[in-house]
Amino acid sequence: MRRNASENHVSRGRSLPQVRRTFESESHLCVCARFLIRFLKNRKTLEKVAARKDIDVRLKHNLVEIKPESKEAVFEHLDTHEKVTIAFDMIHVTPPMSAPDIIKTSPLANATGWVDVDKYTLQHPKYPNVFPIGDCSGLPTSKTGEAVRKQAPVLVQNLISAIRGEPLTAKYDGYRSCPIVTGYGKFVSVGMACCGAWGSSDSFQ
Ligand SMILES: Cc1cc2nc3c(=O)[nH]c(=O)nc-3n(C[C@H](O)[C@H](O)[C@H](O)COP(=O)(O)OP(=O)(O)OC[C@H]3O[C@@H](n4cnc5c(N)ncnc54)[C@H](O)[C@@H]3O)c2cc1C
Repeated sequence: MRRNASENHVSRGRSLPQVRRTFESESHLCVCARFLIRFLKNRKTLEKVAARKDIDVRLKHNLVEIKPESKEAVFEHLDTHEKVTIAFDMIHVTPPMSAPDIIKTSPLANATGWVDVDKYTLQHPKYPNVFPIGDCSGLPTSKTGEAVRKQAPVLVQNLISAIRGEPLTAKYDGYRSCPIVTGYGKFVSVGMACCGAWGSSDSFQ
């Protein structure tokens, strides 16, 4: 975000003295979510990282407009609907995710547009010769490469079983994890980096 953003009266989050400058820059992290991360066990760690790096974390902030000429990003607070404008030099935006149209409009899709799937066998409920994994799948888990790594062997084993006409015995256990880089040579592994993640919904907040 922009150097000296507070002086131009555009950034209205924290008052100037609260924002310590590192290399004359300010960092803001604006997310729609109610929490920095929904996994309780990782949240406190990431909150400490944000505090240590002086990152101004703003929750429930939905990006509604970018003004390229003035280099300003406009956010709407999800509860109060207040508009907050923050100036930036550099901005990284993650757009809302959805399945591509080719999947959304196909008979393979479930109600949310992702490819329908049995979360254990990874087989499509209607089309037994279809085994979706990864980001296109409707698996109720994180869309990460780390999750795909654990889905792939299950898919392979069950696909071979299906071809042989045998029962699908391999089961995906819901493993998901995502490394969040927090510094040079450091990361926080976010999520259920363990087996048996299905049914552990008490870890979500
Ligand atoms: C910025 C960013 C950072 C990430 N960081 C991490 C991380 O640190 N750790 C982690 O575990 N995960 C991370 N992820 C998530 C991870 O990249 C994905 O979960 C993973 O790549 C999904 O793999 P996939 O094979 O299902 O889909 P993809 O990798 O998206 O592959 C889909 C492929 O299908 C192709 N394709 C699309 N449409 C068509 C079509 N009509 N015809 C033919 N081909 C088509 C695409 O070109 C693409 O090559 C990150 C994702 C992003 C965007």
